Amino acid sequence: MDLKITKTRMPKDLPDNSKLGFGELFTDHMFNMDYGPDKGWHDARIEPYAPIMMDPATMVLHYGQAIFEGLKAYPTASETIQLFRPDRNMARLNRSAQLVCIPEIDEAFVLCALKKLISIDKRWVPRAPETSLYVRPTIVAMDPYLGVRPSNTYRLFIILSPVGAYYPEGFNPVKIWVTDKYVRTVRGGVGEAKTPANYAASLYGAEVAKKAGYTQVLWLDAIEHRYIEEVGTMNIMFVINGELTTPPLGGSILAGITRDSVLALARHWNFPVAERPITIEEVVAAHGDGSLQEIFGSGTAAVISPVSHLAWQDQVLTVEDGGIGPMARRFYKAITDIQYGQAEDPFGWIVPVDEA
Ligand SMILES: *Cc1c(COP(=O)(O)O)cnc(C)c1O
Repeated sequence: MDLKITKTRMPKDLPDNSKLGFGELFTDHMFNMDYGPDKGWHDARIEPYAPIMMDPATMVLHYGQAIFEGLKAYPTASETIQLFRPDRNMARLNRSAQLVCIPEIDEAFVLCALKKLISIDKRWVPRAPETSLYVRPTIVAMDPYLGVRPSNTYRLFIILSPVGAYYPEGFNPVKIWVTDKYVRTVRGGVGEAKTPANYAASLYGAEVAKKAGYTQVLWLDAIEHRYIEEVGTMNIMFVINGELTTPPLGGSILAGITRDSVLALARHWNFPVAERPITIEEVVAAHGDGSLQEIFGSGTAAVISPVSHLAWQDQVLTVEDGGIGPMARRFYKAITDIQYGQAEDPFGWIVPVDEA
């Protein structure tokens, strides 16, 4: 497929790299591609960043048929730019596509277009420590039609956003609220897809948690309200009795690429790993008998997010005396060192962005 490139005549001013937040600023260009029943995916193009014109009846606005991905491009000390396991994001975009009836993409082509987009906007890749360029591929249903059915037409776009260090004051633990009242997804639903419905469904519970003084919600399974699932945008891991333990991917949990990387590293280090169902009662009991050593979340934005407090019903469990455990630190360092090219990559996870 051809890729048409139109460069902007009005490049924006670069932001101050020491003051970057998350997802607030966007670069000069974006990638766009359309889908229609006759042509399939067509008209792939990189063009100036611009709003998308939509009929008010556009299906995505009414029925939420949409999917997205999130990954980052990292600067290295030798002034190159690299991606971390982007093939996994492309494969997951297609998995999400299947679950909400969106036509699949050519993963290799979209990855190639993404690299080209980053190389065109490479001046936007921040260079300060722990900063990066966040990449957001999205596909939305475009038919102007009121009625629930899969759309016939779609738009795929990729936008880029320079983002600051997730932990500007250093690696920081979070307080998590466990709910047995609200649920995010259910087995047989679309929890395994990165689709907007799941995030809309999580907002109310997350607001309740925030009012109670917690950063995020830990969701339990929607049927028995016992089995641990994941946090809003992170998978969850426990170190119990010297074993790294995380819930299995049962259909209601997002298959995090950071989760997979943590598990691969642990196995590489010969650290015991268990992917098995874990109940909240088991976590409370392990905290009670002293076998609960660490809790942390894993996801692209924060990489590793240590959990210092877990609130469940009328108890608050304090983990690692409210500090950060050694495994959380070890995973954080190992993964970020690979991402920024400061350590060997024995797994073949790094994909350079060729600066054409
Ligand atoms: C994106 C996301 C994750 C983390 O996935 P990564 O590939 O590690 O970034 C975990 N849970 C949910 C619900 C997510 O949306």
